[in-house]
Amino acid sequence: MSSLSTLCLHCGLCCDGTLFTHVPLRATEAGPLKALGLPVKAREDGTLLLPQRCAALDGKRCTAYAERPEGCRRYHCHLFSALSEGEVSLEEALAVVDGAHALLASASGEKTPEVEDYLDRHFRGRRRRYTAQ
Ligand code: SF4
Repeated sequence: MSSLSTLCLHCGLCCDGTLFTHVPLRATEAGPLKALGLPVKAREDGTLLLPQRCAALDGKRCTAYAERPEGCRRYHCHLFSALSEGEVSLEEALAVVDGAHALLASASGEKTPEVEDYLDRHFRGRRRRYTAQ
């Protein structure tokens, strides 16, 4: 297994409702996802979305991987990019993920300012270039 796959299968934060509330969908993606039993929702303006936590997530694994929408295929979090570009080692990246899970557990899953700051810094990439600490 590649180190990037190892990271994603250790994490799950981009699919479990921690980082995002939904994945935007193209109109053509709704049918195949509904056929898999996934709940596709429509906004008032008619745009479609897949709510998160994603119903396709089993533990930290996507059970709809072959059919996953374009938004899922294109998304790479900040930590994934840092690992793929050699800015952090796999060991460091896994420790960052463990840190996120530990913070969330200590906050009982609540998005406290400390949790949001950690997620912004390490995953959402709303800070300057990656620093592993
Ligand atoms: S379809 Fe798969 S990759 Fe996309 S949000 Fe759901 S679990 Fe994650």
